[in-house]
Amino acid sequence: MMDYDIAIIGLGPAGATLARLLNPNLKVIAFDKKQQTGEQGFQKPCGGLLATDSQRSFVRFNLNLPTSVLANPQIFSVKTFDLQTQIIRNYQRTYVNINRHQFDLWLKTLIPQTVDVRHDTLCKQMIKQDDGYQITFVENGIEQQVSARFVVGADGANSMIRRNLYPDHQIRKYLSIQQWFEDCHPVPFYSCIFDRAVTDCYSWSISKDGYFIIGGAFEMKNANQRFEQLKEKLIPYAFTFNKVLKTEKCVVLCPSKFSDFRCGKDNLFLIGEAAGFISASSLEGISYALDSAEILSKIFNANDATPNKTYHTRTLKLRIKLFSKMVKAAILTSPLLRKWIMKSKISHISVENQFGRQ
Ligand SMILES: Cc1cc2nc3c(=O)[nH]c(=O)nc-3n(C[C@H](O)[C@H](O)[C@H](O)COP(=O)(O)OP(=O)(O)OC[C@H]3O[C@@H](n4cnc5c(N)ncnc54)[C@H](O)[C@@H]3O)c2cc1C
Repeated sequence: MMDYDIAIIGLGPAGATLARLLNPNLKVIAFDKKQQTGEQGFQKPCGGLLATDSQRSFVRFNLNLPTSVLANPQIFSVKTFDLQTQIIRNYQRTYVNINRHQFDLWLKTLIPQTVDVRHDTLCKQMIKQDDGYQITFVENGIEQQVSARFVVGADGANSMIRRNLYPDHQIRKYLSIQQWFEDCHPVPFYSCIFDRAVTDCYSWSISKDGYFIIGGAFEMKNANQRFEQLKEKLIPYAFTFNKVLKTEKCVVLCPSKFSDFRCGKDNLFLIGEAAGFISASSLEGISYALDSAEILSKIFNANDATPNKTYHTRTLKLRIKLFSKMVKAAILTSPLLRKWIMKSKISHISVENQFGRQ
C-alpha cells in the first residue's frame, strides 16, 4: 500500500495548478521549498510578466487575478534594443506586470485542503519501489519518508526528478542574473536587449513597484563579467543604475531541440520548466507551466490506464508550439535577420524622442 496516489514536488505555477485541479478523491501530497508567509525563504527569480497565453489559461480556469499580485505600473510596450546596429524599436505588448512571489503564494492558497501541502520542505531523494516511489524530504529539520504511486516533478529548471529520470540528457541552460535598483527613469519601461558580444540569448529590463530590474541569460562561464559589460553598454542609452539593492541568480533552461522536452516515464511525470516547457525565444514559461499542469490533471482525474503515454500524446501540441519558439529564437538572435526585421519598422510604434538615439 502506498501512502499517497500522487506526490507533487514543487509548487510553482505548474505544481500549484496541478494540485488545485486534481480530483479530491485522489490522495495527494505536495512539497514546496518556499515558505508560505513572510519575505524569507526561496523566491523564484523571474521577470514576472504574464503573457497572453497565461492570461488565456486564467480565462479557462475561470480565475481572476487579485490586485494584490499586480505590480505597478502596467506597461504596454517593449523597447527593443539591438546594441550592435544601435537600432531601437518599440513594440506593443499586453503583458500583465505581477509580483512573482506574491503570484506564487496566491496560487498556493487556491490548493484545496484535501491536498496534504508541506511548505518550507525540501525533497532530497526519490527511490523506485515495487509499485511506486519512496520520497525523502526534510521538514522542520527532520528527515521523513512517504511513498506514492505517481510522482510529478514540478520542481523547475534544476529538477531533481528530471536529473533522476534522464541523467545523461543535457539541455541548453543559461545562468540568469537579475539586479534590482531604485527606478530613477522618468518613465518606467520594459526593454529587450540583443547584443551577441554579451550573450547569444537575450537581456531585458523591467520596471516594477518603484524598482528597476535589469537581467539577462548568459553562458555559465563569465556570466558575471558579461552582466557587468551589459550594464556599461546600456548607460549611453539612458539606462540609470545606482545602488544595487538585490542580485538574483538562477539557472534557466533554453530548449534547442525537440528532444529537450521530456514528459517523464515509469509513473514519473514532468510538468512546467522541469519538462523543458519554456519558450526559447522569450524565456516565458508560466503559460506552459499552467498548460502542462492542466493537461496532466485531466489524465489523473480520468484514472487513465496509461497515464505516461497519454500525457506524452496530449502535450504534443504544446511541444510543437514550443518548437516554433526555437525557430523564432534562431531568427531573433541572428544579427542579420534581426537587423532586417528592425529596420523594416514592422509593428514599430514611434515614441517622442525619449532615448536620444531613437
Ligand atoms: C530571470 C527569469 C525571468 C523570467 N521571466 C519570466 C516572465 O516574465 N514570464 C514568464 O512567463 N516566465 C518567465 N520566466 C520563466 C518562468 O519563471 C518559469 O518558466 C516558470 O516559473 C516555471 O514554472 P514551474 O512551476 O515549472 O517552476 P518554478 O516556478 O521554478 O517552480 C518550481 C518550484 O519548485 C520548488 N522546488 C524546487 N525544487 C524543490 C525540491 N527539491 N523540494 C521542494 N520544492 C522544490 C520551488 O519552491 C519552486 O517554487 C523567467 C525565468 C527566469 C529565470
